[in-house]
Amino acid sequence: MPESTAPQNLCSSPCAPLEALIIGAGFGGLGMAIALRKAGVSRFLLLEKGQDVGGVWRDNTYPGAACDVPSHLYSFSFEPNPRWSRVFAPQAEIHDYLQHCARTYDLLQHIHFGSEVRHARFDETGHYWQVICNDGQEHFTRLLISAVGQLSRPALPKLPGMDTFRGKVFHSAHWDHHYPLADKRVAVIGTGASAIQFVPQIADQVAALKVFQRSPAYIMPKADRAYSEQEKQRLARQPWRLKLLRAAHYLHFESRALGFTRLKGLTQWVVGIPFRQLLEASVPDPELRRQMTPDYPIGCKRILLSNDYLKTFARPHVELLTQGIARITEHGIETLDGQQHPVDAIIYGTGFAATEFLAPMHISGRNGLELNQAWQAGASAYLGLSVPGFPNFFMLYGPNTNLGHNSIIHMLESQISHVLKARQALLASGAQTLEVEEAPHQRLQQQIQRRLADSVWSGCTSWYVDARGHNSTNWPGFTWTYRWLTRYAGLAAYRFAGSLERHSAAADGLRVASPRDWLERGSAAWLRLFLRASFRALIGPPRELVRQRQLVNALAWLMPGCAGVRRRWHWLGSLPVQKVEAAATPGKGVILYLHGGAFCLGSPHSHFSVTSRLARDSGCSVWVPDYRLAPEHPYPAALEDCLACYDAIRAQGCPAEQLLIAGDSAGGALVLALALALKQRGEAIAAGLILLSPVTDPDLRGASLQSRQTVDPMIRRDWLEQALKAYAAPAPTLTHRPLEADLRGLPPMLIQVGDQELLLSDSVRLAERARQAGVSCRLEIFEERWHVFQLQAFYLRSARNALLAVARFSRQCLEASGEPAAAADSTPATQPATDPQPS
Ligand SMILES: Cc1cc2nc3c(=O)[nH]c(=O)nc-3n(C[C@H](O)[C@H](O)[C@H](O)COP(=O)(O)OP(=O)(O)OC[C@H]3O[C@@H](n4cnc5c(N)ncnc54)[C@H](O)[C@@H]3O)c2cc1C
Repeated sequence: MPESTAPQNLCSSPCAPLEALIIGAGFGGLGMAIALRKAGVSRFLLLEKGQDVGGVWRDNTYPGAACDVPSHLYSFSFEPNPRWSRVFAPQAEIHDYLQHCARTYDLLQHIHFGSEVRHARFDETGHYWQVICNDGQEHFTRLLISAVGQLSRPALPKLPGMDTFRGKVFHSAHWDHHYPLADKRVAVIGTGASAIQFVPQIADQVAALKVFQRSPAYIMPKADRAYSEQEKQRLARQPWRLKLLRAAHYLHFESRALGFTRLKGLTQWVVGIPFRQLLEASVPDPELRRQMTPDYPIGCKRILLSNDYLKTFARPHVELLTQGIARITEHGIETLDGQQHPVDAIIYGTGFAATEFLAPMHISGRNGLELNQAWQAGASAYLGLSVPGFPNFFMLYGPNTNLGHNSIIHMLESQISHVLKARQALLASGAQTLEVEEAPHQRLQQQIQRRLADSVWSGCTSWYVDARGHNSTNWPGFTWTYRWLTRYAGLAAYRFAGSLERHSAAADGLRVASPRDWLERGSAAWLRLFLRASFRALIGPPRELVRQRQLVNALAWLMPGCAGVRRRWHWLGSLPVQKVEAAATPGKGVILYLHGGAFCLGSPHSHFSVTSRLARDSGCSVWVPDYRLAPEHPYPAALEDCLACYDAIRAQGCPAEQLLIAGDSAGGALVLALALALKQRGEAIAAGLILLSPVTDPDLRGASLQSRQTVDPMIRRDWLEQALKAYAAPAPTLTHRPLEADLRGLPPMLIQVGDQELLLSDSVRLAERARQAGVSCRLEIFEERWHVFQLQAFYLRSARNALLAVARFSRQCLEASGEPAAAADSTPATQPATDPQPS
């Protein structure tokens, strides 16, 4: 392979990051690079730790190495190769093919060989990834794509005495072709997919071969043969034949998924019978046949293909050992029955560290979150591609995308087109980051694990499943389902966000683009019309406030809460409080939620769509006081009731560190008033404050009160004037004037606001003030959304996502103050397993 010619103009800096950076030049990395080139992307780099392209097909040069999916299927669909020499091409040919792809698509100018990525860190301010290599080189990129595969790191068993052996040792993935095996006594440890390929090849050369088997495999005949020259020429002349052949192979292999996942009994017929026939024909000795017959359900471990492996054991100098290894000694291997097996060389055919995925790289995402930390409970990724907390980052051949039945290249092509689509959607949205949301990721993960629990892979211990039963490797279904999900359904799970520059250079936070799918757009358009015709038209002068309140209560059923929560009423003296909790065991934290309605309207009932989702997603109990409303009860009645509720929560033994105070609109004003009142009392306040479209300026001086007058479909300025007059907070009351009050010492805040809303500037100004006062404050501005759009969470994914972000903020605040809430989406802790065999 010629040297990389990566030119100087691919240098990057934080100010001029690359468009994309790919790690790994195997099938995945090369396929991704070709797709980027085809999409017209030129500023991208591919970093490869080896000195050539090819991935596993560069490294696994052991005798007999070949694919076990027919080559016309195990190759790129866009680069068919009519000249494959056999149905299952050998390693050297596959490696040549990948080199040919790199040359044909002019990829060498993008590749740095000998560059091993050690660390990648997401910079939240600049929205880029900083990538650091072993040689100290740094690269900066908008999009980071890992294509390091699942089987690129050989795994060695942990056997006592391994270091003491004086003979030759190597792993099948690092075959030492300079070591002459001829006339040597050789031990092979492992009987997986690699070993069954090289054992028959070396048996003829060696003086004695001892194969140490931990568990036997189901082996099927391999329908392999050489293609004749005429066949190759016909395939080259008539590309439709190539397509037909590929489709036939695809359908044949795809049908095997039925046996693995749905009709498990089928495997007895299509695998069990041919296996037994092959065993009978190849191994005359009944005792050896018994040792070579698996005792686990068919398909649970990888089904292997070979015509000559079983036969090899009929030779007198080849021995199968199943006693188990006690230790490696200076001169050989001691088995558990105390026997010594002196050998000259040990070859490990023990597979790869598949479930360690991206290790040993360190990938740090948002807030310094380490991928290994995010994967403490077992590796998982949305469609195997993306992980919440890691924006603009994709993995190819990531968790749960391995197959037991078909070509990985088919999966890689689905993933590559998903990454491209996501990139295009990111560019179209004008946002700077895209990041998968926690909820869809967890939902899909639960489905995958449920399906896996029902599959053949749950029937035994294998490298697919770890000690706690978590299968982080396999996709539990058809590859066409995966293709459909990655192509058409997958993008809805992403949040597109950008920096706030357009709105405020002084505040920290995000501009969140609205989801672009037709369902969200249609719902938003319909809601805009509906709110304009109902809420905005009916709520405000000249209608009296008490009449408006009746209307709001009558319309409340249109904003339903979510399932999976229960609500109960409590009385704190004369103050009714609604307590909303997840039906599953709620966590420790409490959210005091102060509903909006300009101090005059609204109730716990009208805001159940928000409070129920907060309870479910944060795991906290949500307390919603039905505080007294103006004009019957002007200032300070509402604030007094909120304070009474706060005191009651604290009196029940809930410390401030376990408490968050949240509210929307005028409820947001009450949150700030309460926090400032508590500050005056000199007490610890809360772990965090959550403000949804808060009213922060009773004089209504914000710029958006002019500029968004007609844009906001929800509320009108004259309604705010009417209500604030009825509430009648005296002008010098600084608790209701947070833009003028001293905010120092307030807890961390999250502010969410729509960019179409009347009170946009109230939020921006508050965020700037908070930041000046040294208060940690995150401002999230949702594009194309209106005043307290979170109330419409039943209809809008953007609203549900916004509330998920609130729930996430709540959990972070509780964790930061040392009081972890029970996350609603937590998954059971699991340990990764190791030692898979290649597929
Ligand atoms: C012997 C063998 C046979 C197989 N046969 C089949 C088969 O028949 N059918 C099938 O579907 N699948 C098979 N597989 C599975 C195979 O892994 C995939 O089919 C496919 O090759 C994966 O390609 P990849 O690009 O994702 O990963 P890989 O081919 O593993 O390439 C990953 C690349 O990333 C590089 N890399 C890793 N870490 C870093 C880093 N930190 N910095 C820079 N570079 C890095 C590696 O050097 C490597 O070049 C087989 C695997 C093996 C090992």
